[in-house]
Amino acid sequence: MCNDKFLYPGAIIKSASKKEVYEAWTNERMDRIIQERALKIKRLSDVKGWREKVKFRCLDCGNEWETTPSHIRAGHGCPECAKARRRSVRKRAKYTTKEVREILEHFNFILLDEHYYNALQKLHIKCNKCLQEFERSLNSIQQGHVLCPYCKGNIK
Ligand SMILES: [Zn+2]
Ligand SMILES: [Zn+2]
Repeated sequence: MCNDKFLYPGAIIKSASKKEVYEAWTNERMDRIIQERALKIKRLSDVKGWREKVKFRCLDCGNEWETTPSHIRAGHGCPECAKARRRSVRKRAKYTTKEVREILEHFNFILLDEHYYNALQKLHIKCNKCLQEFERSLNSIQQGHVLCPYCKGNIK
């Protein structure tokens, strides 16, 4: 059975979200979408229809993958770049205990906790100058609270 017989150029089709003018999926249409959206991808195989997978190459990472034209139109880009973006966001958001230790050492503090869990955790910190201990979250340090409360009080 072929439902495509109603889909001539200019025909109105009902889609889930809105009515749109049917336009055949061609290489030209695909390339136009890539160009209009300034996508950093290159089409490597011919477009045969909205459900037929087309091969693309990412101009950023060189990854080649296959997806449907409608997927590209919906805003999906290179899956490898998307993965890399997710990884780097996670990495920025979460420090390891070792990294937090290094951040604190930079301010002449010693981390007394064995494990760092999150930026709101009250860390047990020892000041390397006056050897007093106090509590502070990494979040607070990142906001600029980088002086030891005891040393700070002694600065007149
Ligand atoms: Zn990529
Ligand atoms: Zn101190």
